Amino acid sequence: MASRLPDILTIDWPKNATSPTPAAQLALKRAVQLVRSGGLVALPTETVYGLATDALDSESVDRIFQAKGRPATNPLIVHVADKEMAKTLAADWPDTADAIASHFWPGPATIVVPKKKIVPDNVTAGGSTVALRCPDHRIMQWIINQSGYPLAAPSANRSESLSPTCASHVLESLRHRVDLILDGGQCVHGIESTVIDCTATPFHILRPGPIDREHLESILGETVTVNAQSIDMHQTQTRSPGLHARHYAPKTPLEL
Ligand code: AMP
Ligand code: MG
Repeated sequence: MASRLPDILTIDWPKNATSPTPAAQLALKRAVQLVRSGGLVALPTETVYGLATDALDSESVDRIFQAKGRPATNPLIVHVADKEMAKTLAADWPDTADAIASHFWPGPATIVVPKKKIVPDNVTAGGSTVALRCPDHRIMQWIINQSGYPLAAPSANRSESLSPTCASHVLESLRHRVDLILDGGQCVHGIESTVIDCTATPFHILRPGPIDREHLESILGETVTVNAQSIDMHQTQTRSPGLHARHYAPKTPLEL
């Protein structure tokens, strides 16, 4: 982990251009090199800024937990370029997973499926399932495609603090614990992805997000439950540790 503050590189990528400007491409290249050598890069997605590294390298993944101060019991979402990359990590790819990916990817839908051995145990907090998502953001997609790796990328903030929706939030929260920050402007959604457990029926929403239950049901043609309401807290914590009662803890005092 570096001891000095990270560079913040602005990614200038005009809306209608298929590729970023040459200067931005240099910045992206640096990010790819860092990810390939086990570094931590903060970058925008359509939900919030993520703290990304090679998901298939357990030492790199360990660095994410250290930088965030995240408990080892809280698994990470793995970001993929497309369905094909997702299938290289999934021991089983149920029809539901396929339907959700076909309809909502790229987008804020995270799919939980049984994991293959190549996914390191620390990514899944020792569990047998892995959470997969294909983000709808050109910068994140570029880094995944150019590095060739699926990327573990939880929100780029210290654990239990608010998720960052711009580059300056990342710097305030992580400081020297991140190697490089790519500034791609404000995130579109500003809240984390919907997490859907596809390993059991009825399908459960483990974490509510931008895609709601009604929308999922209309696409799947099946009942979808929201786990936090349908099962006891002990089980919820086991199935999706990010739903711990204390998870997002703003520090600003509130007066009613
Ligand atoms: P974050 O990356 O901080 O946005 O949080 C990731 C969310 O996905 C947390 O709520 C995790 O508990 C949840 N998650 C990640 N992997 C799994 C998994 N294999 N099974 C269930 N929930 C998961
Ligand atoms: Mg988070």
